[in-house]
Amino acid sequence: MLTLSKKAITTITTTFTKPHSLSSMAATEETLRKTLAEKLSAVEIQANTVRSLKSSSASKPDIDAAVQALNNLKLEKSSIEKSLQSLLSGSDSREAFRQSVNNTLERRLFYIPSFKIYRGVAGFYDYGPPGCAVKSNVLAFWRQHFVLEENMLEVDCPSVTPEVVLKASGHVEKFTDLMVKDEKTGTCYRADHLLKDYCNEKLQKDLTLSSDKAAELKHVLAMLDDFSSQELGAKIKEYGITAPETKNPLSDPYPFNLMFQTSIGPSGLAPGFMRPETAQGIFVNFKDLYYYNGNKLPFAAAQIGQAFRNEISPRQGLLRVREFTLAEIEHFVDPEDKSHPKYAEVADLEFFMFPREEQMTGQSAKRIRLGDAVSKGIVNNETLGYFIGRVYLFLTRLGIDKDRLRFRQHLANEMAHYAADCWDAEIECSYGWIECVGIADRSAYDLRAHSEKSGTLLVAQEKFSEPKEVEKLVINPIKKELGLAFKGNQKKVVEALEAMNEKEALDMKAALDSKGEVEFEVCTLGKTVTINKNMVTIHKEIKKEHQRVFTPSVIEPSFGIGRIIYCLYEHTFYTRSSKAGDEQLNVFRFPSLVAPIKCTVFPLVQNQKYEDVAKLISKSLTAAGISHKIDITGTSIGKRYARTDELGVPFAVTVDSTTSVTIRERDSKDQVRVDVEKAASVIREVSEGHRTWEDVWSTFPHHSSTTAED
Ligand code: AMP
Repeated sequence: MLTLSKKAITTITTTFTKPHSLSSMAATEETLRKTLAEKLSAVEIQANTVRSLKSSSASKPDIDAAVQALNNLKLEKSSIEKSLQSLLSGSDSREAFRQSVNNTLERRLFYIPSFKIYRGVAGFYDYGPPGCAVKSNVLAFWRQHFVLEENMLEVDCPSVTPEVVLKASGHVEKFTDLMVKDEKTGTCYRADHLLKDYCNEKLQKDLTLSSDKAAELKHVLAMLDDFSSQELGAKIKEYGITAPETKNPLSDPYPFNLMFQTSIGPSGLAPGFMRPETAQGIFVNFKDLYYYNGNKLPFAAAQIGQAFRNEISPRQGLLRVREFTLAEIEHFVDPEDKSHPKYAEVADLEFFMFPREEQMTGQSAKRIRLGDAVSKGIVNNETLGYFIGRVYLFLTRLGIDKDRLRFRQHLANEMAHYAADCWDAEIECSYGWIECVGIADRSAYDLRAHSEKSGTLLVAQEKFSEPKEVEKLVINPIKKELGLAFKGNQKKVVEALEAMNEKEALDMKAALDSKGEVEFEVCTLGKTVTINKNMVTIHKEIKKEHQRVFTPSVIEPSFGIGRIIYCLYEHTFYTRSSKAGDEQLNVFRFPSLVAPIKCTVFPLVQNQKYEDVAKLISKSLTAAGISHKIDITGTSIGKRYARTDELGVPFAVTVDSTTSVTIRERDSKDQVRVDVEKAASVIREVSEGHRTWEDVWSTFPHHSSTTAED
C-alpha cells in the first residue's frame, strides 16, 4: 500500500523468555532513571554534609552516623544502576536469541544469503528446501483461509509495470524515503534510521541520561515517521550525528525513490518499474473483474506475487529486503454500505488492539472484543473489522503467539488523507514490533486515480428495482449568449460552467439572482470572465433514475509473507537439554500446518527387514500426499530425532519390528506403538488436523523411550 501522506511445554527451556510488554518496560525505565537521578543528588548532598561535619570538627558519633548514611545511599544508588543496566541489556539477550535462531535457519538451509559465493548482495535472500516448503504451506493456507473462504477472484499480473500506471497511483512522485550521504565517501544511509540508532543507543547505554532527555529522545523516536526532510536534517545536526563507519559529516536529507527502474523493449523510450506492490494489477483490472463477478458488489480480488523495493540500506535480515512476496486482497465495497455478511463470525474474538487514542495518551495495547471496537466506532466499519478478525485467525493458526501480536491503528498523521481507517497487524520479535500485515480502508482513491489517468471509468452501478425520483441540479449554459460574448472561447466557458460542482453552481445562482452577474474563473482559459444571468440557468429538477453510479471503496489487507514467516520462526523456536545434559538442542515448534516435512521414517537399526517396512510406510505416506523424509543412515536414533526436531518435523515413525512401529511427537517426545498397516493413516489424520495427538496418545499403547532418546 502506498501511503501518499507518508513523510514519511514442561521439559522445555526457552532461551528467550517472552519479553515484557514494551510499554511496561518503558514505564519501569522512566521510574528507574528518575530514582537514579534523585539518589545521585542525595549522595551528593550527604557527601557535602559529611564534609562540613568533618571541617566543623563535629563529634565522632555524628560523623560516623553521616558516613553510614552516605554509604547506605551509595549502595542504593548502585543497586538502581544495576537494575537499569539489566533492563536496558534486555536487548543483549534478544540479540543472542536472534543469533541462535538465525544460525539454525542458515545451517539447515531455511534461507541462504543470495549470491553467497560472490559475497552476497544486501537485501536479497534465497529460500532453501525447508524454507521453500514453509513458504508454500503458508501460501496454501492463505489461499484456503482467504481466497477459498471468501470466493475471491485471484489474478496474477506482471512484475514489470509501465510508468503511466505508477504515475497514476502516485508511486513515481511519492514512493520515497529520505536519504543522507557520507559527504566524503558517498555511502548512503536512511536518514530516519541513523536518528533512530542514535536515540536507541543513548537510551540503552547512557545511564547518566536525565529522565527529561530520555523523554525527549523517546518523543523523537515516536515522531520519526512524521519528520519532514528539514526537521530530520535539523535533528541530525543538533545531535551531531555523523556517518557510522567513517564519522564523516553527512549531507542534508533528500528523497530517494524506492522503485527499481527499467525500460520496456529495446528502444529505451518506454520507461517501466518493477512493481513495488501487487495491488495496482488488481485496480487496473477492476472493470473486467466486476463484469466477471456479474456486476455485483461486494467482491474481492487477490494476488500473490513478488514486490520490489530498492531499500536504501536494508538491515534487520529477512525483515527488510529488496525483493519479497506480497499477498494482497482488494475488497471492493459500496461506500454507503460497509457491512459484511460474515461479520458475526469474528465479532466475539478478543485480542490485543492498540487504538489511536491509547497511543496518544501513552497507554499500552489492550485486549478488546472486536465487536466492541466496531460498535464503538474505534474500527471504522464492519468490513474492516471482519478482515482484522480474519487476519488474527490466520496468523494465530499459523503459530504466531497471540500475546506477541497486536493490531495498531495508524495515527491520523500516519494515514493518507483519503484513507478512512488503517490498522497494522504487528508482531513482536527480537527486532521489536514489526508491521507484518497492513489493513486499510483506502476509500475510492485508487479507482478514481486510474479512471482519471486512463480515461476508462472504473465504477459500479446499483440498479434500482423501481426508478427513484431524485433531485438533480441542472446547469444549462445558453450557448447563443455565450457565443456572442466569448466567440472562439465559448466552448471552454460552456465546459467550465458544466463542470461546476453543486456548491459552486448554487453560489453562482445566488450571485446571479442578487447582482445579475458574477466573476467566473475558467482554468482552461487561464483567466476570469464575467457571466451574467442571460448566459446560464441553474435550477433543481426532480428526475427519475434507474440506477446509481459510484466509485467503490476498497478495503485492502496486504501481507508481507517473508516477515510473517520470520516472526513465525522466532515464535516457534526453543532449545532443550539433551538427555545427557551436555548439549542444547534446537527445536521449531511448528504446527503441522506449516511444518516443512510432516514426518520422518527411520529404521531403529540398519536391517534389511526394517528398511523394507520403512519403505512400505513411506510409499503409503506418498500416496496420501504427506511430505516426509526417510532416513536409513546408521546414525544413532537420538541424533536422528534431534536433526528432525531442528527442522520442526512434528512426527517420527521408528521401525523397530516388522509388525508394529512407534510414532513420536516432537514437543512432548511421547511415543505410541501402532501396527505397521495403520501407521501412515494415523500420521495423515494427525498431521492434517483431523485428529489430535492427545487422541492418538489415549488410543494406542504407550512406548517407553528411555534408550531411544540417548
Ligand atoms: P506497505 O505497502 O508498505 O504497507 O507494505 C505492505 C507489507 O509489505 C508490510 O505490511 C510488510 O509486511 C511488507 N513489507 C514492506 N516492505 C518490506 C520490505 N522491504 N521487506 C519485506 N517486507 C516488506
